[in-house]
Amino acid sequence: MNPSCSICNNLETVKHIFIECPIVQKYWDNNGVKNFITDIEESNNPNWLDSLRKINTKITSINWNQVFPFLMWNIWLSRNHNYHNKVNLDIPISLAITRTLEFIHLAVKEPSARQAHTSPKAIRWTSPKIGFKINIDGSFNST
Ligand SMILES: [Zn+2]
Repeated sequence: MNPSCSICNNLETVKHIFIECPIVQKYWDNNGVKNFITDIEESNNPNWLDSLRKINTKITSINWNQVFPFLMWNIWLSRNHNYHNKVNLDIPISLAITRTLEFIHLAVKEPSARQAHTSPKAIRWTSPKIGFKINIDGSFNST
């Protein structure tokens, strides 16, 4: 497996994906938090992810602690999209904001909407009638 970033060819670590890669640096800059990111990057704190999670700011009037998971998820989805489609598109901000607002609307502000999904639903795994089931996970390098 090639340990290089598919975007910039530097060593792809978790910190690289979420802090150091040029495409994510641009993303943080567009979100108005580049100064926070630079401080975290320069501190060499091994708990950089915790520092990132605890930034005290807002994105378009949304508290950081609410938008943060969606921003991170957005980075991951965009990287995967770029890799699998062999493109190098910027990471869009609007999708993370939209998903955060949807979450706030459904899970925070609308108790009736939240209750509608809390009724117990019996879900359990059953074995296939014929044969057997194997769960696998894998990856490959197409080059
Ligand atoms: Zn990179």
